[in-house]
Amino acid sequence: MSGDCLFCRIVAGELPATVVHETDRVLAFRDIAPQAPVHVVVVPKAHHADVSALAAADEHLAGELLAAAADVARLEHLDHGYRLVVNTGTDGGQTVFHVHVHLLGGRGLTWPPG
Ligand code: 5GP
Ligand code: ZN
Repeated sequence: MSGDCLFCRIVAGELPATVVHETDRVLAFRDIAPQAPVHVVVVPKAHHADVSALAAADEHLAGELLAAAADVARLEHLDHGYRLVVNTGTDGGQTVFHVHVHLLGGRGLTWPPG
């Protein structure tokens, strides 16, 4: 746990969140500023700053993160499809430096992103 990390504090239960799915190593909760009818953030409980750090430290956990995101998509009945996004670094638009997968769905999503 990183004491000043927002998502570590949510994982620790110090900050409230609407949790939709949990495994022993992954937590999924609704984004506070949803960009689609379904917008869930899926995080490893362990702190890793971004996807590069996660992949270097624990490849299996990176796979668990993707599998959990797919499980949430099923739980949220996103039968017509969805999008997974991992914003990384400044150019990637990352604002919280605890790696997370955005699950977006419930409407048609355009491409390319901004
Ligand atoms: P990023 O910009 O790093 O890819 O994504 C960070 C996400 O965290 C944003 O979509 C933002 O809305 C969300 N977020 C920021 N603060 C909170 C919070 O306190 N609670 C929840 N549930 N989501 C948050
Ligand atoms: Zn963290």
